Amino acid sequence: MQTCENCNTPFSWGKIYGSFLWNYQPITCKECQTIHKITISSRFVFVSFTILPMLIFGHFLSPFHNILLTLGVAILICIVGSLLAPYFVTYKRK
Ligand SMILES: [Zn+2]
Repeated sequence: MQTCENCNTPFSWGKIYGSFLWNYQPITCKECQTIHKITISSRFVFVSFTILPMLIFGHFLSPFHNILLTLGVAILICIVGSLLAPYFVTYKRK
């Protein structure tokens, strides 16, 4: 998990997830108030954990002939991907 570049305090999963929800909002360290911004490559990481597997599943891999079922599983993949993404993204000190 990402830590503060200034004081090495780990950022919580919830804090990083919250940052995603607010359009990659910068994260402020709770110990030293240093502001961290998400790196460009991490935005790609997030997309490749969410949108990309969802599209690939929806277009190529779905075993279902039912559009609603396909859509449901695709959304599930997107949600699971977004839950994992905080472990793989990096933030840099501003
Ligand atoms: Zn800090």
